[in-house]
Amino acid sequence: MDLKNIRRQFPALGRLAGGKKLVYLDNACSVLKPRKVIRAVSHYLSALGACAGGRSGHLLSAAVEELCHEARAKTAAFLGAETPSEIIFTSGTTEGLNLAAKCFPFTKAKNEVVLTAFDHHSNLLPFLEEQKRGRVKVRIAGLEGGWQLGADRITSLIGPRTALVSLPLASNVTGQAFGLEEVVRQARRRGAVVLADAAQYLSTNRVDVRAAGIDMLAFSGHKLGGPPGTGVLYCRSGLMRRLGNFKVGGGTVLDVVLKGGLPEARYFADCRRFEAGIQNYAGIIGLGAAIDFLLETGIGLIKERTSGLAALCRARLAGVEEVELLGPPQAPASPIVAFSFRNPKTCAQDFNIFLNNELPRHFICARCGSHCAIPLHRSRGVKQSLRASFFVYNTESEVRLFCDALGQFLESAA
Ligand code: PMP
Repeated sequence: MDLKNIRRQFPALGRLAGGKKLVYLDNACSVLKPRKVIRAVSHYLSALGACAGGRSGHLLSAAVEELCHEARAKTAAFLGAETPSEIIFTSGTTEGLNLAAKCFPFTKAKNEVVLTAFDHHSNLLPFLEEQKRGRVKVRIAGLEGGWQLGADRITSLIGPRTALVSLPLASNVTGQAFGLEEVVRQARRRGAVVLADAAQYLSTNRVDVRAAGIDMLAFSGHKLGGPPGTGVLYCRSGLMRRLGNFKVGGGTVLDVVLKGGLPEARYFADCRRFEAGIQNYAGIIGLGAAIDFLLETGIGLIKERTSGLAALCRARLAGVEEVELLGPPQAPASPIVAFSFRNPKTCAQDFNIFLNNELPRHFICARCGSHCAIPLHRSRGVKQSLRASFFVYNTESEVRLFCDALGQFLESAA
């Protein structure tokens, strides 16, 4: 698909605000939605609208069940899972990581969790809550100096008591990766499980969970062009059987029997145990369509385009004295470029406002703040950063527009 055709698939790209054209560079937050996803969601809402599964037992619910099953099977194939029943649908990466933290079978002898200084709050906080409950002891692999964090630093914290190592496949601040292969090798050697936060990885990279030796993996549908409020926790089935319950209720049980006057539940062993109540069927079907879009467009092509754009942006910004690029100099795994202003009086938020309001023919959507990674920003003494992130519909001229806008902003602030 050529670029023009790709852009045509995303109706939001045609949006004007006050007659100005949209330049969307906030893809690490959420990717815009392709027509395929919009059609799939709309089909569910307009032609189906019912619950899935055998509980209702009518033709409409059978049709919804079939579409949801297709989405689950597509997701399983996309990740290289052994069976679709290893795919738990969630509301997003955050819910997947909370599920993993809350339900993981920690024991007294194996209760340590290794995390990293690059973790998103959604990975950090669920485990810190478990620490407050006395279930785990959290160890955090800190920066090595500069922005480097190699696998050695993470694996040096893995010991005989380590139950779980949880790490991002790519940082949402710098886009960098952390030597997953070595982490998996050392975790396995010590009998620990690896949980991957893939929120920032899958829109531009393939992963094969079995080949990579990942035991659990969480991602969000909306970062792949799917609907918000959708996501997945992949869990290897042998481990899934050992997880505690998360939310329980309708759809999670095989049977509820009365024992001594009290009901006792017999839960499903697979993904159904974690999907209580009526599900987000429109979202699940839309997520399946987003995966179709990625595969049809070709992740290789997406990767090539977006890493080229990120490299161009980095190269341009590296020549701007007033800003500090965040992250190590090596090319990142995901197309994310973040920077802070060296002068503490220049505020990333002001530049963000400038991008939205001060350009004559465009408004540029990027992101400013600490991107739910406050500990990382603090440890580098950065208060706020501005992040631009790319997807397959972005163009080199958009990157140039963004970098030119930075020059104009700095001139106006001088
Ligand atoms: N982890 C990482 C690395 C992220 O970038 C994000 C989203 N910014 C999350 C977790 C949380 O994702 P969601 O808000 O979709 O649950």
